Amino acid sequence: MITLESYLGGTWQKGSGEPAILVNATTEEAMAGCNADGLDMAAAHAYALEVGGPALRELGFAGRGALLKALSKAIYEYREELIDLSIANAGCTRGDAKFDIDGATGTLAAYAYFAKELGDGNVLADGDGIQLGRTARFWGQHIRVPRRGVAVHINAFNFPAWGQMEKMACALLAGVPVIEKPGTPTALVAWRVAQITVESGILPAGAFQFVAGRTGNLLDLLGAQDALAFTGSSGTGAKLKAGSNLIERNVRVNIEADSLNSAVLAPDVDEASDTYDQFLANVVLDMTQKTGQKCTAVRRIFVPADRVEDVSAELVAQLGRIAVGDPSDKKHRMGPLASAAQLRDVRAGIGRLAQAADILCGGADAIAEKGFFVAPTLLLAKDSDADVFHADEVFGPVATVLPYDGSAAEATRLVNRGGGGLVASLYSNDGAWTEEVSLGIAPWHGRVWTANDRVASQTLPPGMVLPAMTHGGPGRAGGGEELGGMRGLEFYTQRTAMQGFQGSLQAML
Ligand code: NAP
Repeated sequence: MITLESYLGGTWQKGSGEPAILVNATTEEAMAGCNADGLDMAAAHAYALEVGGPALRELGFAGRGALLKALSKAIYEYREELIDLSIANAGCTRGDAKFDIDGATGTLAAYAYFAKELGDGNVLADGDGIQLGRTARFWGQHIRVPRRGVAVHINAFNFPAWGQMEKMACALLAGVPVIEKPGTPTALVAWRVAQITVESGILPAGAFQFVAGRTGNLLDLLGAQDALAFTGSSGTGAKLKAGSNLIERNVRVNIEADSLNSAVLAPDVDEASDTYDQFLANVVLDMTQKTGQKCTAVRRIFVPADRVEDVSAELVAQLGRIAVGDPSDKKHRMGPLASAAQLRDVRAGIGRLAQAADILCGGADAIAEKGFFVAPTLLLAKDSDADVFHADEVFGPVATVLPYDGSAAEATRLVNRGGGGLVASLYSNDGAWTEEVSLGIAPWHGRVWTANDRVASQTLPPGMVLPAMTHGGPGRAGGGEELGGMRGLEFYTQRTAMQGFQGSLQAML
């Protein structure tokens, strides 16, 4: 069994506590122990500030972009090994594993590409300059500069590679060193990525540190220039954000949390259309990809009441064709959940939903003697307004069909009952309906994805997060925002309004 060590202060270190045991999600055999108790977080924090930050800033944006490109290539070299590890430790099928690992290298490469237009310096112009005086000599210009702190990244278990790298790409390009902490159940994949990162020697000393286990007093050490970016459940996010040190010292905090994502079928979409096929395919993909353990996966499927029977039957038929089993066997299209705790939570969640819905397929029953397997589970709400569907995220291959009257107003009202989401997908060839719902739900969503027959052959699935587009959402989804091309650097840089002689300000840029 492997002992996962933390990489702090330039050395690999073992925690002193009882390790959490990471297992193979299919066989339940122990694979690794993970513990960071007793490690010196103050020294790690100081190392990042004193060694990592200056070394990164010395490189300028272009130099840091080159590091990201090299890191993307270094990790890609280990793609097959990482895919195998992900299949074992995270219960991923090969396709699921590629989604995580290629997502990680792809996001690093994308940020290396974005860096090309930023030049060698450490100052970014933020918008155009403004004449402030009687003549253009007295000038105003907003700029962005790297903050002089450390970025602590606490990640969820479901994307051990991508979750780590998408945050790192933005922080490192901005010039801010990172301390990464993965979700424990799948920390083996994240740890191997960390090992490759360190062994590659690409990043300067202090730019990258890694905690395999709990973060101890790290969050209490953060100061005004530091940042905490968290991804996980809204409960943990709320608890961490309320930390008195973070509040008192105004530490920047970004929360990416859960979301009751919606797919909405409009009444105009007939069964012969490409849009209808796409709706069915995307719902099935979202429910089963990564065994439904995707923050962007659809949980609520809104269907016009008079179409519910046909649509549900079609979804049940397509879900029935998804072979569930050992993800190392290519014939299986869905593997187990990632951990025993996940299995427990998902079964309990199905039980809560089933109190207000009929189970159309799947259910909470065990489907294998070993491993954390659960069947794709589709439910049909008895009352689409029942709170449970709009407040309870069951983080597995589980979604509920919610009948509605087909109107744009009712679709908007019900979708917004989720209290803030990462993504909602709308399927319609009716431009007026799409516009009304899109603009009605936009204030409550980080992303609105729409499909009609004209784009059906070109769209990327709504569950896919792209480096060039923002990811995050208001309210329940955490209120945070990540990625979005250059927008992803805002969290790690300071916007300063510079005022003075135009010539001097322009020279600065
Ligand atoms: P979680 O239980 O909230 O844990 C998230 C992270 O917080 C883990 O690394 C966890 O570490 C850590 N953590 C927990 N308590 C902590 C504490 N007191 N101090 C420091 N760190 C602490 O969530 P999860 O089960 O890993 O992930 C599933 C959830 O994440 C779902 O609700 C999903 O919707 C959400 N998610 C959201 C997004 C998004 O982008 N919005 C993306 C992916 C997932 P341990 O594992 O060691 O406990």
